Amino acid sequence: MRMVHLIEKKRDGEPLTKAEIDWLIQSITADAVPDYQIAALLMAIYFQGMTPAETAALTLAMAASGHQMDLSDITDYAVDKHSSGGVGDKTTLVVLPMVAALGVRVAKMSGRGLGFSGGTLDKLESISGFRVGLSEAEFREVARRVGVVVCSQTADLAPADGKLYALRDVTGTVPSIPLIASSIMSKKLAAGARGIVLDVKVGRGAFMNTLEQARQLALTMVQIGRDAGREVIAVLSDMNQPLGCAVGNALEVREAIACLSGQGPADLREHCLHIASLMLRLAGRGQAYTDDAETRAQLEAVLADGRALTKFREMVAAQGGDTGVVDDPSRLPVASYVAEVRYEGSQAAYVAEVDALSIARVALDLGAGRMKKGDPIDASVGVEVYAKVGDLVQPDTVIARVYAAALASTEAAQAGVRGAYRFQMQPAASLPLFYDQISSADLSSSV
Ligand code: URA
Repeated sequence: MRMVHLIEKKRDGEPLTKAEIDWLIQSITADAVPDYQIAALLMAIYFQGMTPAETAALTLAMAASGHQMDLSDITDYAVDKHSSGGVGDKTTLVVLPMVAALGVRVAKMSGRGLGFSGGTLDKLESISGFRVGLSEAEFREVARRVGVVVCSQTADLAPADGKLYALRDVTGTVPSIPLIASSIMSKKLAAGARGIVLDVKVGRGAFMNTLEQARQLALTMVQIGRDAGREVIAVLSDMNQPLGCAVGNALEVREAIACLSGQGPADLREHCLHIASLMLRLAGRGQAYTDDAETRAQLEAVLADGRALTKFREMVAAQGGDTGVVDDPSRLPVASYVAEVRYEGSQAAYVAEVDALSIARVALDLGAGRMKKGDPIDASVGVEVYAKVGDLVQPDTVIARVYAAALASTEAAQAGVRGAYRFQMQPAASLPLFYDQISSADLSSSV
């Protein structure tokens, strides 16, 4: 096979065969194709798209490009969750201990933040000593003993995706539904999950800005999972405003701990209760957790009686982190400068918008995120937004705080947060947490 032929085919809108895709991914994994040809093919895919069969073949080939985990010694039915990336999304930190507290073991590989989107590993690393780089033996041992573990993806998990993603990142070809879907699902399949909950974010602070795009991405991923013999439930969740209040690594850990203690922002709690209940529904395989009200009561109980927080503490201990932060979050990194943002109108008004992307950019400029892989981040900095869409605010109310490492950066951050807010005199409806749900059980096979 010749790479130029594959590029020409795709350029002209012809689908690639499974054999061609297998050859392509094997060649990329073996470093046998120059980057310029891969980049040209990616751009052709970006414009021409891929059929469901091509997308499925690409996903399976990438999943098979490295080590494929078998978690059957940890649990007879591994469940996982994945978020397509958002602002203030600390769901994993809350949901995994909740589910584990009910006896369902979760062994999760996670990623780092890039651009406006935060990453679970960076958040966890704001806990002093916390190790995300576990060996596979350590990963399995913690999963078995504690019931919950989160570590970084090993380099041999879907390595072809790592190479393709690095090129997509610098060739403007990230926002392609078949490429995103195959990238996410190849890692989920290789990581050994049998049941997967996909949290597909939609809105200003998400990869997918419109409900239509998000639905298409969700459907593509659910179909891939189903055709690979996995059970998948995708939810479309709001990312027009940040989830919860905190945006920034240590601030988000603090908020996750509050949520695990039965407190924290209502939207975050509700979001986590729903994602956790879907994970349990999959884990129960039609035998347990079939009654939504009962499942919810059990999840509320583990938040109220401290069992979820205890699981989190056990995970932090097992991964070398300072468990003191669980009881005393002031041990987390603290920013040197904190500045308030107040509502400056002269009359009470309703919050009409808290633009998640603008808030994320402020956090990024403060040093909470990275523009390119490997950039250092500052765990202590970020933003907290207290007034959310639909809230009524009075003049001079503190609507947000910025946490900065230098006095000089607070003013720009305050202005950035102010610019993210829009107010109106008429009541504004609060934003829904979820827009839709797509389940593999409801789809017929596409391949
Ligand atoms: N997350 C991934 O893992 N891959 C993508 O392509 C986009 C988001």
